[in-house]
Amino acid sequence: MPEGHTVHRLARTLAGLFEGETLTVTSPQGRFDAGAALLTGHRLVASEAWGKQLFLGFAAPADVTWLRVHLGLYGAWTFASDGSADVVHAIGAPRARIGETETPLADAAAGPWAVPVPRGAVRVRLLGAHAVADLNGPTACEVITAQEKAAVEARLGRDPIRHGDSDAARGEFVARVRRSRVSVGQQLMDQSAIAGVGNIYRAEALFRAGVDPLRPGRDVDETTLGEVWDDLVTLMRDGVVRGAIVTTRPEDRGPDAPGIRAAGGLAALGPTTRRHERRAPVPPGAVLRAESFYVYQRDGLPCRLCGTPVLVKDVGGRTLYWCGSCQS
Ligand SMILES: [Zn+2]
Repeated sequence: MPEGHTVHRLARTLAGLFEGETLTVTSPQGRFDAGAALLTGHRLVASEAWGKQLFLGFAAPADVTWLRVHLGLYGAWTFASDGSADVVHAIGAPRARIGETETPLADAAAGPWAVPVPRGAVRVRLLGAHAVADLNGPTACEVITAQEKAAVEARLGRDPIRHGDSDAARGEFVARVRRSRVSVGQQLMDQSAIAGVGNIYRAEALFRAGVDPLRPGRDVDETTLGEVWDDLVTLMRDGVVRGAIVTTRPEDRGPDAPGIRAAGGLAALGPTTRRHERRAPVPPGAVLRAESFYVYQRDGLPCRLCGTPVLVKDVGGRTLYWCGSCQS
């Protein structure tokens, strides 16, 4: 499932493509015909994210009306554009797909701007002067009022990307986690405790803080929780810029990381990791996905810091990864 950085990136992309423009809104699939009819012909005036919720504000005649989208497990936006400068800046490719992962599409043929035929079951199509955005497979897609939007937001915890500069937000997060005996690992995935954190940021932030994810929230001290919040602000904002989650420090990547060296070097990474890396060449300056995390999906592989095999456990229906030695 996309984590918060992806949704913020989508909000920025959509703002860059369409904000201020009057859009044609349709539902090629037909399931959103009524909603599209309320929005079409109106100007896009806002594009925001809060955690995993995306809100697009339209200047409908009476008031601002909002399109709320939650991608869920299978949702994704596909963009195509005429290649004009700010569009390229926003999405990095004339045609791109952003869901759980971000991929430039191979059919980005240069040439005259031609609106592509909708692919698959497109729930919503936004069409502007220079670009088109198609939404497929969302969990939630509905038109709501400003009041209903406020009600959705009231149920959400603070979002490290959106509220990362607020001391009050940091304090709310720390107090909320410490009020409960539910494990800190489970609370980080609870969107009403903190918004936008998914399985990867959860695992990685707790590893970087050296906190056992199974420890009850109320037993984690305030200073440590404040540091977890600060780290998430940094990591998730970096994710928005980069378009990918990278939590490893450069010195902890590759066969020379202390834990990998202790466990026997590259051979200790196993054939699966090596095969994965060969399948996924990365552009210069980027970080291999297999090198991007300390513990996420590294179960059985040596911890990058201490060499102990990374642990895995199903907690509340989601897979938890951690190092039993570094996180205590
Ligand atoms: Zn370790």
